[in-house]
Amino acid sequence: MLEVTNLYKSFKNVQAVSGLSLHVQAGEIVGLLGPNGAGKTTTLRCICGILRPDAGQIIIGGYDLAQQEQQAKRLIAFIPEVPNPYELLTVREHIQFVAMCYGTIDIFHQRIEELLHRFDLKEKENALVATLSKGMKQKLAVACAFVHDAKVFLCDEPLIGIDPKGQHELKSELQRLRDEGCAVLVSTHQLDTAERLCDRVVIMQAGRKLAEGTLEDLQAQAQMADSTLEQVFLRLTEEAEHAGNPVSEPAPAD
Ligand code: ATP
Repeated sequence: MLEVTNLYKSFKNVQAVSGLSLHVQAGEIVGLLGPNGAGKTTTLRCICGILRPDAGQIIIGGYDLAQQEQQAKRLIAFIPEVPNPYELLTVREHIQFVAMCYGTIDIFHQRIEELLHRFDLKEKENALVATLSKGMKQKLAVACAFVHDAKVFLCDEPLIGIDPKGQHELKSELQRLRDEGCAVLVSTHQLDTAERLCDRVVIMQAGRKLAEGTLEDLQAQAQMADSTLEQVFLRLTEEAEHAGNPVSEPAPAD
């Protein structure tokens, strides 16, 4: 459902992503893990079309993001790390606005009601977005991701700032999406959550893929049977750090 091949992205003199390849199948939750600055957000922003890669290919539901942008983007929902909603709309207007971007409000009327209830936003439906708390803005971003029938969910630290009930709701939603055949790619530093929620993880370091697989695969790679994801993650990233992270290369010239 999502296929990223040989992705490169740089910012002036920073090589943020360097030759990354990953895939997420329909009906799978994949965790995108890595230390601060590893390139997770940059990767997600490239996949959802906010950033243009220097090189590489991104295929979403069979559509090449570079060639068939609209078709590919219709299949994506993105929950950003730092939501940046339109502050002068009310909560309801904001969800309606997102609905209008995907079609007419009529089609989504029932769903907007449902989302307001499901994400505890009903009480605030007529409040200006500017007046919402940080966590409520995050819940709004989550609700907006569920407006259309996306097939690929990209979530950047989606649980940060959300209260325990909201976190529980979102985790259940992600599992439901997986069970319904969606592909979910979620970046997180919460390794206990990743261990419970994800079918597989990709660990990034210094813009590159350091390791990939199920917990069992990573335990085998780290030679740490029966260890937690956190223990394995720390071992693999520390070893790579001591070995000297490979220097990130810019995209090869055409
Ligand atoms: P974190 O876990 O801290 O959120 P991350 O793995 O998501 O980190 P990115 O945000 O993708 O990492 O950043 C990767 C690298 O790219 C870092 O060195 C960062 O400073 C750099 N970077 C990201 N965005 C920009 C930008 N807009 N301009 C310049 N450098 C950037």
